[in-house]
Amino acid sequence: MRTRKEHPDSGYEPEPEPHPQPQHEPSPPPVQHEHRPSLFIVHVTPEMAPVAKVGGLADVVFGLSRELAIRGNHVEIILPKYDTLRYDHIFELHEVYRDLWVPWYEGAIHCTVFFGFVHGRKCFFIEPHSHDNFFNRNSIYGFADDVLRYAFFSRAAIEFLWKAGKHPDIIHCHDWQTALVPVFLYEIYQQLGMTHPRVCLTIHNYKHQGVTGAELLRATGLHQPERFFDRLRMGDNHHKDALNLLKGGIVYSNFITTVSPRYAFETKDGGQGFGLEPTLHTHHMKYGGVVNGIDYDVWNPEIDHHLPVRYSVDNIDAKYDNKRALRHRLMLADNEKPIVAFIGRLDPQKGLELVRHAIFYSLERGAQFVLLGSSPYQNINNDFWGLKHMLNDSPDCHLEIGFDEDLAHLIYAGADIILVPSQFEPCGLTQLIALRYGTIPVVRTVGGLADTVFDKDFSDRPLHERNGYRFDNYDGPGLESALGRAIDCYHQFPEHFRELMKNAMRADYSWNRPGQDYLNIYDFVRNR
Ligand code: ADP
Repeated sequence: MRTRKEHPDSGYEPEPEPHPQPQHEPSPPPVQHEHRPSLFIVHVTPEMAPVAKVGGLADVVFGLSRELAIRGNHVEIILPKYDTLRYDHIFELHEVYRDLWVPWYEGAIHCTVFFGFVHGRKCFFIEPHSHDNFFNRNSIYGFADDVLRYAFFSRAAIEFLWKAGKHPDIIHCHDWQTALVPVFLYEIYQQLGMTHPRVCLTIHNYKHQGVTGAELLRATGLHQPERFFDRLRMGDNHHKDALNLLKGGIVYSNFITTVSPRYAFETKDGGQGFGLEPTLHTHHMKYGGVVNGIDYDVWNPEIDHHLPVRYSVDNIDAKYDNKRALRHRLMLADNEKPIVAFIGRLDPQKGLELVRHAIFYSLERGAQFVLLGSSPYQNINNDFWGLKHMLNDSPDCHLEIGFDEDLAHLIYAGADIILVPSQFEPCGLTQLIALRYGTIPVVRTVGGLADTVFDKDFSDRPLHERNGYRFDNYDGPGLESALGRAIDCYHQFPEHFRELMKNAMRADYSWNRPGQDYLNIYDFVRNR
């Protein structure tokens, strides 16, 4: 049993930085622990692929939870029971806890907890019965009361663990939506006797922090405004009348990770922390970066059932059958040009001015361009619809505005080059998926892109580790300096381009290494 010594207020002694540390290159090969005890790990998350997916966070929970289970741990996942869940991916769904009463304002909200398997993963879905209608909104995010919706979910998740008698070794939370879980644990549930769990919080993006007002305290039963508005706890670093949920998560968790070492550095020391830099400095001894993996059961051209023709590094030519299929599906000309692709949320973060620039530049430089993306912002969608109409007659360009998992697979397989020109990029999954499919990334040197893509011409890595092209400056000439080299290489030095493809396909960006990194972190916090 633990004592309360580890409460964030206790000012624990600094210890040597655990592995993995913030750094600029991938961590060294993991230490294999032979007789590791099995852990009970619970992920509390707003998203998990494919049942509730908005972005990369959903893929991370899906992939990491499987990896941890394969390594002999008991892994459970708690999610809201959204009306938009992909029920076709949930098996044996049934009620397991009918009368969960979750404290809320002066009373409590009645919830039912369901259990089901999502591709073998053990998932609990919490359904509140209240007029707030928290999770029946036809969409996952985007509501004025999002902070309260997820504060409720966080409280419900920990109340469920407590009432169901579950005492996980590790509660692993994700982003601001679940950042209140460690606050509840140490402020409320530890006093009740929940002294065993340790909390790891993974921050997938600092842009969204859950900044809110005093109403939150009334709703969640965290009374004592002076205590929680204190800047050492949840008081926002910039707005003195605001609470910051993500900050609370950082202060109260036993360890915080973000999704690449480079982004860990950028957020703490490179001005990318959206105001949380001082908090990260205070808590730097429990902060590190782990590059995400990708799930090779889902993203693997050797077994991908979305593809008309499967291929591997030993029969790369079959990739070009997929290129033909992609062209056929999108009605593009069948010519000798490379296909440059962009897949992603149409969010300013993703470098949309440069995406636009790249479309015209690629067409000018003898390449085709394919875009698959959608935005929650109507004005951005409209801009891209305008662009689509403008380019409608081009036999070398197709813009698909929408979310289409099936088409995404075909693009990863059929394109030659994938573009990721982000303003900032915590990890980025598109370049990792593309690498697995032998599609060469052209990326801006930021965040996880810098940790995973090594420039063919300028990297100091050995030749066999170079796998793409990078540029630094966020402007047209910067983009052209990398994309131009990629297109030229494709046309003029096809054998070099093929070597790059092989390097890309041979590298291991599965969950193997990050799975071990997370287990090392769990051990670190359990042994403190
Ligand atoms: P983020 O989490 O910032 O959205 P990531 O690169 O980490 O970005 O993850 C994006 C994931 O979402 C990838 O799996 C990508 O293939 C997928 N994706 C993004 N946009 C679309 C879309 N319009 N259609 C299908 N898949 C998409």
